[in-house]
Amino acid sequence: MSDKPLLGNRKLIRGLNRSTVLNTILAEGAISRAALSKSIGLSPASITNLTAELLEQGLILETKQGESRGGRRPTLLEINPDGGYVVGLKLTDRQLIGALTDLSAKVLSNEVTTLDGSQPEQIVEKIAGTVTSLLKKAHVPRKKLRGVGLGLAGVVDSQNGISRQHPIFGWQDVPLGALLQEKLKTLVHIDNDVKALTTAELLYGAGQGVSEFLTVTIGRGIGLGIVVGGQLYRGSRGGSGEFGHIVVDPKGQPCSCGKIGCLETFVAEPALLQSGQCAAENGDLDPFTTLDELINFAESGQTAAVKLFSTAGQVLGREIANLINIFNPALVIVSGEGTRIGELIFSSMTAAIKEYAMSTLKSDTEVRIDPWGDDAWAVGAASLVLQDFFSSPINRRKAAVPRA
Ligand SMILES: [Zn+2]
Repeated sequence: MSDKPLLGNRKLIRGLNRSTVLNTILAEGAISRAALSKSIGLSPASITNLTAELLEQGLILETKQGESRGGRRPTLLEINPDGGYVVGLKLTDRQLIGALTDLSAKVLSNEVTTLDGSQPEQIVEKIAGTVTSLLKKAHVPRKKLRGVGLGLAGVVDSQNGISRQHPIFGWQDVPLGALLQEKLKTLVHIDNDVKALTTAELLYGAGQGVSEFLTVTIGRGIGLGIVVGGQLYRGSRGGSGEFGHIVVDPKGQPCSCGKIGCLETFVAEPALLQSGQCAAENGDLDPFTTLDELINFAESGQTAAVKLFSTAGQVLGREIANLINIFNPALVIVSGEGTRIGELIFSSMTAAIKEYAMSTLKSDTEVRIDPWGDDAWAVGAASLVLQDFFSSPINRRKAAVPRA
């Protein structure tokens, strides 16, 4: 077979090799040029050439931490964390959560502010203020900012930077990417918050090196990130993964999406609070206002609270079993603020997965509960920009709006 068409696009091939080198260095942590050459299958001369370019761009650096085998210690290559900085932001119903990270996704400064309003212009202003404040706190000059990533709820067309449907603010087709680009004058990526979190798992977390995995988030809503063939699956226009809105009981409770009996009406935080309130009104529980109080009730053995969480876990586990039957993932990562409920929900969830997933497929799947950190959403959003450094030219997504 002639390789002429490939030679006709040297720039593309070079871009592919460059991303493979960067990804291998990221995955290995530290690696010698010889090991890179062996692992990737490129000639030592090509590796020297590509790594020289990456060194010059400040994206990688040389260290001498390698194991010595009698002789001098080999020079290893690592990602240069100070090669650039990005800001990741998560927009919730009431707050803007932000973090500034280096290229290894390490958080250097963070900030949580309360929203002044939900109009797009108000959000843009709030974001601009937070970006400035995060840079200042970390003593990073604005010229070293490589981009801003924003994760938000609902259906997002990340290719074109459009919030197609925001379930809380009622937005329809808001060109948020363009508005932010105009204000911030830097590269901007926006995406659904769960997809952003899944991107972070893929690049830096438990999903590193796993080509088929799912991320299920529990919190104010129930989310799903799908990774197939090492790539995030977005659906035809960015709407994949609305796991929280699969119908569990058509005769059930009304859902925020306008339908009846969705998974969220059984498992999401507002649903848990509502079930708790019903139990309190019936005199089965003491009065309470927050989810943490409800968790405390269950931990101290109040039967109605224990039952409420275990029922939610059972419903969730059954639906995760359905996902396992459809996707045959190697890994399911359970994440989100709701993981703080802990074993109260997970023991029944795990039992239901075992009961309802096909046993052969279940044995292929590891289910892992992610320890939740407050910065996780923001780091996820930061990784929307970070992935630009590591993705191949074929898979690289267009920025929300081209660089000014
Ligand atoms: Zn729904």
